Amino acid sequence: MTDCIFCKIIKGEIRAYKIYEDEYCIAFLDINPLNPGHSLVVPKLHVENILDADDETVSAVFRAVKRVSRLLLDKLKASGVNVLHNAGREANQEVMHFHVHVIPRYDPHDLKLTDWWRSNVKKLDLEEIYRRIVS
Ligand code: 5GP
Ligand code: ZN
Repeated sequence: MTDCIFCKIIKGEIRAYKIYEDEYCIAFLDINPLNPGHSLVVPKLHVENILDADDETVSAVFRAVKRVSRLLLDKLKASGVNVLHNAGREANQEVMHFHVHVIPRYDPHDLKLTDWWRSNVKKLDLEEIYRRIVS
């Protein structure tokens, strides 16, 4: 896509700190990192997000996510990674080219990603939610 910022990075029209490349994907440093080494894994094919991508693209992206995670652990001496994908504007996706965030972690308290472990869905709602999903 001509006006897509990540397509431009893939084509080399916009500069990025590329840390990984294979046949299907590249990974580069996020311009606004949450932690040192925060990277984005991006398929070379322009698709919006995981919901829009074919299975081969999803597989290729997550294979690259694993390799990039290992690279960050090895080179930056990180001790874990958070892997995050925002699919859709409601989920805070801002760049509409499929990308997976790989965020190295150095300490359990170095970053507060979200309050997602403090669910606002009451336990009692689980049964109803479950029935809606499996019906
Ligand atoms: P989203 O909210 O869409 O999941 O995240 C988009 C990410 O892309 C953000 O973390 C943002 O910092 C990053 N980003 C946006 N524009 C650029 C850019 O031009 N270069 C790089 N390296 N990262 C970008
Ligand atoms: Zn694109």
